[in-house]
Amino acid sequence: MVKVKKKVLERVTVSKIGADVLGVVTLLKQQGELSEFFLAKKLNDDINAIRNKIYRLQHLSLVSYTKKKDEIKGWYIYYWSIIPEAFNQLYKTMLKEEMSNIKEDIKFKEENSRYGCIQKCRIISMEDALQAQFACPHCGELLKLIDYTKDIEKLKKKMKQVKKSMDLCP
Ligand SMILES: [Zn+2]
Repeated sequence: MVKVKKKVLERVTVSKIGADVLGVVTLLKQQGELSEFFLAKKLNDDINAIRNKIYRLQHLSLVSYTKKKDEIKGWYIYYWSIIPEAFNQLYKTMLKEEMSNIKEDIKFKEENSRYGCIQKCRIISMEDALQAQFACPHCGELLKLIDYTKDIEKLKKKMKQVKKSMDLCP
């Protein structure tokens, strides 16, 4: 059976649903099928608040349920579980997006010369710097070519980390 790592569970929950749902997903990961009532009691939360959190998880298909009839009261009780595969899948999608943002950032920094005011007023394109004769339009100080070498190195390192996370995710 596929499992979801704590880190993955937390990152997906925080960025896709909200940090307020961490308590619910953590309990569901630890203890499996739980009713809304149990979650409410255990987390000292209002039943409607718990239902709202579950609804948000369900909206992204991250949880499933089984329902059992309460023989005494006659109504159905829903027992919720997280779907580990769904968390892993969403995590991979997040990593892919991150990877593509990093690649774009690298491409931009490799292909564009940008100039910055030595007083740190602003950064402008080469065309604008040429037009301003390399004087800052704001303060008149010198505009210098920005060296992105270190930035690009950092981005490439970050890219390797993201790639590693992608490979480690089942
Ligand atoms: Zn300036």
